[in-house]
Amino acid sequence: MTPLRDTVGPVREFGLTGGIGSGKSTVSSMLESRGALLIDADAIVRQLQQPGEPVFDAMVGWWGDRIVAPDGTLNRAAVAEIVFSDDDELARLNGLVHPAVAVETQRRIDEAPDDAIVVHDIPLLVLPGGELLTSRDHEQWLGIIVVDTPIETAVDRVVAARGMDRADVQARIDAQATRDERRAVADFVLDNSGSLAELEQAVADCWDWMTSIESGIESGREGDVS
Ligand code: ATP
Repeated sequence: MTPLRDTVGPVREFGLTGGIGSGKSTVSSMLESRGALLIDADAIVRQLQQPGEPVFDAMVGWWGDRIVAPDGTLNRAAVAEIVFSDDDELARLNGLVHPAVAVETQRRIDEAPDDAIVVHDIPLLVLPGGELLTSRDHEQWLGIIVVDTPIETAVDRVVAARGMDRADVQARIDAQATRDERRAVADFVLDNSGSLAELEQAVADCWDWMTSIESGIESGREGDVS
């Protein structure tokens, strides 16, 4: 009998990114319902920054109580304020957080079934200027999926869904990578300018591409690949 390990491939990993309100969470859910194992980088960071976690303790050890909210949790706004205009402080923060995120990410991958299709949801994967966030090893990824949405559409959706201030959303978008910069690193572009039904179809095509890589048949990416 052929041993099972010979009949299944190793874990297949993909990166998923997109601008604010582009539809990353929506796409994540659609991929998850098709069987992908989602690894949400922001959720891992939040988990590691809970009071009592080593990352939380290390951050408070470095910056003191000014980054602790009255309820004992991390005061994210205070941290953002500190690192916003100081590259050394930002490097310190990344040095405290990213190695721990990498360890937790690897732990989840190690626990995944051999034939899992893993999607790393990393909103800030592409930095302003177009470089990739370098704190993670992307070399084992089979591709980067970019959710691409016209800025005005994304802003409209976020304002409508979350009641956020339009200028605020626009300012955040302006501080991040551009659509062109993201598309330049994409192996698969998911166009989310249309309806949810159209997005679902695009995700179906994307899933076909992802699973065809798994079976060694690289097809179905024409027209979607930048
Ligand atoms: P953020 O960057 O803020 O985390 P996101 O990229 O994860 O956002 P979503 O939360 O998936 O984006 O989508 C933003 C909003 O737009 C949500 O309310 C979502 O339901 C809605 N939305 C996403 N795609 C579509 C679509 N094709 N048609 C209509 N609404 C959509």
